[in-house]
Amino acid sequence: MSEKRIHNFNAGPAALPLPVLEEIQESFLNFKGSGMSITEVSHRSNWFDDVINDAIDRTKRLMGLGDDFHVMFLHGGASLQFCMIPMNFLADGRTADYLDTGTWSTKAIKEAKIQGKNINVVASSDDKGYSYIPKNIEFNKDATFVHVTSNNTIKGTQFSDFPDTGNVPIVSDMSSDIFSRTLDAKKFGLIYAGAQKNLGPAGVCMAIIRKDMLDLVPDNIPTMLSYKTHTDKNSMFNTPPCFAIYSVQLVLKWIEETMGGIAKVEELNRAKADKLYGVFSPDGFYRGTAENGSGSLMNVTFRLPSEDLEKKFIADALAKGLGGLKGHRSVGGCRASIYNPTSMTAIEALVDFMKTFEKDNG
Ligand SMILES: *Cc1c(COP(=O)(O)O)cnc(C)c1O
Repeated sequence: MSEKRIHNFNAGPAALPLPVLEEIQESFLNFKGSGMSITEVSHRSNWFDDVINDAIDRTKRLMGLGDDFHVMFLHGGASLQFCMIPMNFLADGRTADYLDTGTWSTKAIKEAKIQGKNINVVASSDDKGYSYIPKNIEFNKDATFVHVTSNNTIKGTQFSDFPDTGNVPIVSDMSSDIFSRTLDAKKFGLIYAGAQKNLGPAGVCMAIIRKDMLDLVPDNIPTMLSYKTHTDKNSMFNTPPCFAIYSVQLVLKWIEETMGGIAKVEELNRAKADKLYGVFSPDGFYRGTAENGSGSLMNVTFRLPSEDLEKKFIADALAKGLGGLKGHRSVGGCRASIYNPTSMTAIEALVDFMKTFEKDNG
């Protein structure tokens, strides 16, 4: 079966490492000798305890997190975090700074405003269709946090460095670049990511919280929406998405044991992106949509000379076993999502196809 798999450039849900899928398949009917599937064992069992605790330990090791962080596995996707963040951290008239760098940050801003929270959008790249990452931003010193979408999945831009926010903790949506590069964890109050881009299947959102951020959480918010509920109960206040967490555990094991850790993954990700961006030129057949220096290592967005050619490109690519190259419906064009599981072999196949397609259609 696996020889019929395509090179999958989907934005999310996205490609998973083949060894992970094979391990899931192998243990699906009889998980660790339990005589049950991972989808059938109790979340209160030792079997599942081992899964979630191993996923937490690997996360901490891979990111270099100390005991001052909790790792949570939550329902509701990254989108529910847009609502939980202001609800948990902005009680009592506190304020926060938000950076507006594209669709997902705009949605995060909207959810804070719906709750009547006092937030400041201190930078935006809306003026140029979100094609760049704002620089030289002035932050408010009394802000409780700064919200940053580290990688803009739809617009194809990424913060190459996180801005210097002084003592104000960064809260970052890393849905599409978590575990793709090394980080200085000290800067962050909260890191969150819907799993289905770079971490596992849909259905779970990882949220990593610095423990002192819990002091901000008011008591009068709904139980399921309070970070304290989930840190107190090791993400098992209610039934967690067991299968998705198990899959994430295997992806983390793959990063650690097969890929050799995040620094190695980052090196490969940089080489992959370099190779793909190398095909673009400002007046060429393939034009990158992100400004120089703002392009994402994860979601590479580009245009062809016409929409008709883009349609043909996407269809011809699929016929050659290269799938998922259509841009997000809100922006059009083309996008290759090249998350951690995407191999250099897949990139080379794509680049070869692009060169041939240009020769035949340019
Ligand atoms: C996909 C995506 C989201 C939305 O994630 P859900 O899990 O579907 O809610 C949020 N932020 C970013 C950066 C994304 O790429």
